Amino acid sequence: MAERVIPLVDERAASRPAIVPPSPQTPTGLLQDQWGRPLRDLRISVTDRCNFRCNYCMPKEVFDKNYQYLPHSSLLSFEEITRLARLFAAHGVRKIRLTGGEPLLRKNIEALIEQLAALRTPDGQPLELTLTTNATLLARKARALKSAGLNRVTVSLDGLDDAVFRRMNDVDFPVADVLAGIEAAQAAGLTGLKVNMVVKRGTNDDQILPMARYFRGTGVTLRFIEYMDVGATNGWRMDEVLPSDEVIARLRAELPLIALAPRTVGETAVRWGYAGVDGLHDPALGEVGVISSVSHAFCGDCNRARLSTEGQLYLCLFASQGWDLRSLLRSGANDAEIASAIAPIWQQRDDRYSQLRSEMPPDATPAHTGRRIEMSYIGG
Ligand code: SAM
Ligand code: SF4
Ligand code: SF4
Repeated sequence: MAERVIPLVDERAASRPAIVPPSPQTPTGLLQDQWGRPLRDLRISVTDRCNFRCNYCMPKEVFDKNYQYLPHSSLLSFEEITRLARLFAAHGVRKIRLTGGEPLLRKNIEALIEQLAALRTPDGQPLELTLTTNATLLARKARALKSAGLNRVTVSLDGLDDAVFRRMNDVDFPVADVLAGIEAAQAAGLTGLKVNMVVKRGTNDDQILPMARYFRGTGVTLRFIEYMDVGATNGWRMDEVLPSDEVIARLRAELPLIALAPRTVGETAVRWGYAGVDGLHDPALGEVGVISSVSHAFCGDCNRARLSTEGQLYLCLFASQGWDLRSLLRSGANDAEIASAIAPIWQQRDDRYSQLRSEMPPDATPAHTGRRIEMSYIGG
């Protein structure tokens, strides 16, 4: 087995100033980047802390008791997050996903959700508000999240076998409690629930079929995510990636599936519906999705921006530098100035990491591609 190289470098400080241009740029909701991609989706990391140590995201060897998390004063306040979210909505954002770290660890997150739920798009529509969570606190919080105005929840769960899951979260957390969180979310009326499973070959790929059997027909959409070379601490190796085509082949060997059309432009998952006895998609059985970040790049439609816990704007999950919106916020700039500063950042965006990576030789490793930021900091 190849030796893992885990560079212990803190890349959080790498950022560029966000500059207010000389002539103001009033938001039109129609921003486009260098490849004609609009800005629609904003992922906001509300904490860099987590109570799990998933080895593909926050491995214990790096995120140990000596790890320096961000001090509270570095975090954007709820007011700062909401102010930026309002300006992003004016620029075209329609969907906000709260993430982290573990977003439910941020104290009183319901208050932030309430503030975000009051925002409107330029044509007067509420934003779609979602949250990704490991579900450890979901049973306790589901009702409060729903009544604060959260629309949907995505739960991460990497297997049904308790031993496999405890090993992957690396804090000995049981599957049963995650399943209880999912049930509580459904009972609280959070519809359209999704479950994300990161598939690592040789670690949890034996969980693909049990997970599919369990969630089929429950109203929960299971999505299989290819293990990504995000960050610099997880010791990623291509031979641990199980390509989505293989996931679908394994599922189809037992459960008939029909390819479904995408619902929206820029959708990360390719959808497959469970077929009924007539061979057609049976909506009662639901669907699964595959997110093929490694094997089939989908940068062409990528309309996602990410706001880190301390207010750095990242234009790609694999970016090595962000844009410092927090300094601009705290400099006393007014809304028009901040909105004007955001516009050229998106307009200059050229990022398409996964696509470029797919054009690299198959044995290329992330070492060829420069420095990258951790997923727990930038938000998944
Ligand atoms: N803590 C929350 C959770 O786990 O749902 C939210 C943050 S987590 C960083 C967001 C998503 O990123 C999770 O679904 C997680 O499985 C996924 N993720 C983290 N590291 C990954 C990697 N190396 N490859 C693929 N997905 C990853
Ligand atoms: Fe925590 Fe989510 Fe990362 Fe797992 S994937 S360590 S739950 S932030
Ligand atoms: Fe978007 Fe970057 Fe992912 Fe491509 S690699 S889909 S540009 S986040």
